[in-house]
Amino acid sequence: MPTAPPRMATAAVYEAPNTPFVLKQFPLRPVRRDEVLVRVSMSTICRSDIHSYEGRRPNPCPGILGHEIIGVIAAIGEDIERDMRGEPLKIGDRITWSEYFFEGQCYYREVHDMPQKCQGLRKYGHDLAAEDPHFLGGFAEYCYILPGTWILKLPPDLSDEEATPLNCGVATMAAVTEAAAISLGDNVVIQGLGLLGLYGAAMAKARGARCVIGLDAVPSRLKVASNFGVDHAIDISCGGAQSVVTQIRTLCPPDGADTVIEVCGIPEVIRQGLQMLRVGGRYVLAGLVNPDANVTIDANMLVKRWITMCGVHNYHPRHLIQALDFVMANRGRFPFKEIVDAKFALKDLDAAFKKAAERTVLRAAIVP
Ligand SMILES: [Zn+2]
Repeated sequence: MPTAPPRMATAAVYEAPNTPFVLKQFPLRPVRRDEVLVRVSMSTICRSDIHSYEGRRPNPCPGILGHEIIGVIAAIGEDIERDMRGEPLKIGDRITWSEYFFEGQCYYREVHDMPQKCQGLRKYGHDLAAEDPHFLGGFAEYCYILPGTWILKLPPDLSDEEATPLNCGVATMAAVTEAAAISLGDNVVIQGLGLLGLYGAAMAKARGARCVIGLDAVPSRLKVASNFGVDHAIDISCGGAQSVVTQIRTLCPPDGADTVIEVCGIPEVIRQGLQMLRVGGRYVLAGLVNPDANVTIDANMLVKRWITMCGVHNYHPRHLIQALDFVMANRGRFPFKEIVDAKFALKDLDAAFKKAAERTVLRAAIVP
């Protein structure tokens, strides 16, 4: 049972892009009736944290980054009795929660079943540290969970390394592989073998794919890919784009892949991705999260080859449940624990960001 939260706690504050994080103390206040306070057990550095840090997308400063978070309940408001699946919640429970929260009426949620796109929706790791309740990001000792968040209790035998990426990377891939409509016997190509790509490969296999082909240029990623369901890991830095397309078309007879998934964040790969698909193939884009991802494509290919192309951003609450159930059901088959391959203290956040940015680690974790 955790002790009562202290009056002050520490956060690694993001003051401005490309400047060192600053450790600062902020007050912790009692939770309101519809809030939860967690002691952060672990948070991992998502690629989008790096994009914010590098100033490639706007994020409020000074703030606390980090949205892939798990923690142990330190205080719980009286209105919060159960998690999204009906499990009772109490102090001491280890939980994950949706990376976004929203309260009130929402056109996209009510009319189009897209709660992740509510206008005015807020996200953890995207708020000002100076404003109440200060702690709304992962790179801190504590985090408040505000109304409109989906909370999910974690099974005790799931490791922190397996649990932390659930609420961003893994849930996003549940949404992506659902949009890709992967069927039994499909041939699937995944562009990018970071955390999203490796979980995507494992999910594609679990959804019944015959063959999963993974593309990347980072040797350490290509090396571990086979452990996560990738049948053929192809180094895109060898032989040029056309050779990669030819290899894939040979591996996916008679006319190319059923599905291509982009999770590398490089717009130029779309041209090659289109050439890998069979007639009637599906292309899901999920890595191009920054503005100005411009690229020229031959749209005639979409028409003549009946290609369906779509984007997926964030996830529906059902995907958070699916992410947890998928990991619980497949953690014996795929070594998800190994994806979080480096751990840092809060004071070493700069070093962790450096390693994550240069891709010398797969997923860096902060243990505050
Ligand atoms: Zn993320």
